Amino acid sequence: MLPDLVALRRDLHRHPEPGFAVPRTQAAVIAALEGLPLEITTGPEGFGSVVAVLRGAHDGPSVLLRADMDALPVDEETGLAYASTSGAMHACGHDLHVAGLVGAARLLCGRRTEMAGSVVFMFQPGEEAGGGAPQMIDAGVLEAAGIPVSAAYGIHVLPGVLGVFSTRPGPLMGGANLLRSRIVGRGGHGSRPHQALDPVPVLAEAILAIQAHVTRRFSVFDPVVVSVTKLRASDAVNVIPDDAEFAATVRTLSPQSVERLRVELPDLVSRIAEAHGCRAETTFDVVYPVTVNDGDRATDAAATLGEQFGADRVELLEQPIMASEDFSFVLNRVPGAFVFLGATPPGIDPAEAEMNHSPRAVFDDSVLADQAAALAGLALSHVGR
Ligand SMILES: [Zn+2]
Repeated sequence: MLPDLVALRRDLHRHPEPGFAVPRTQAAVIAALEGLPLEITTGPEGFGSVVAVLRGAHDGPSVLLRADMDALPVDEETGLAYASTSGAMHACGHDLHVAGLVGAARLLCGRRTEMAGSVVFMFQPGEEAGGGAPQMIDAGVLEAAGIPVSAAYGIHVLPGVLGVFSTRPGPLMGGANLLRSRIVGRGGHGSRPHQALDPVPVLAEAILAIQAHVTRRFSVFDPVVVSVTKLRASDAVNVIPDDAEFAATVRTLSPQSVERLRVELPDLVSRIAEAHGCRAETTFDVVYPVTVNDGDRATDAAATLGEQFGADRVELLEQPIMASEDFSFVLNRVPGAFVFLGATPPGIDPAEAEMNHSPRAVFDDSVLADQAAALAGLALSHVGR
């Protein structure tokens, strides 16, 4: 099966599609699944998802396997024979994710008579932009087999020792949130602040208060990172503006801290504004929730992969990484696990390898057969007989 999956992956790599539409990628997935005993549905116009359901010969639970499909607006510099020239690039390895899930579908279709339950294959666009997974959840992917899925898995390639799987129980990847605030005062002449209501010192005070708040009110063992990265005030040095704005990225590792931050940060900024006679309009948006693996599912997944590939091919991570993932929306609803797969080509030191999203990031597609077998194995740990 490997040569076939490699060919599919390289075809997708040469023709990457960012965003939600991904029509060519969608057609390639449907073609690759042709002839298999699957019930296939596709997303609405402009949304290139594919959901395929495999029903086992016997009744049982339903389990979901997911691959993201979209590329990034990155100009590829890998020099690979199958490199993209379109200005978009599969710089995050989603081309491997699609090919690996197609492989899992083929393997599981071959085991249909031994299966008690069903498998939902979720091919999802719009991961990088955020919003692809929640849109599919709203459209019913978690109940695609007729009953709610009781477990969910996904694999993501990363720089790392070729063929080594890694995961951890609990938080695996950080949550990303966006704090935006506009301090509204009253503009005036820069020489006469007493006749105006200057929002700029209020904004400065708010920025410092936010840093104090996250270090004084949140445990260091459940870290919160706030970086205020955007500022806007007056365009002229002698003009006090009517209003001033800032925006910050807020990174978290627990749903509990997000629930607090979404209330406490806007409240803090409002109170500071009010103390100075101004007012604040603040929004807090969850861009990606924290990716939280279910404890049992993650340790069971590590055990399953260890049986399949050997204990030396599986690593339990001590710490999460702070990058974010929209599979988090699935794991918020279904106990499951997200698993990383090292895919640094031989001859490159994984520690020095270009990270995902780099125009020079390269992933070795010799992992595809094991990636497919791993996903199939995780599904069979629930629906196998
Ligand atoms: Zn990715």
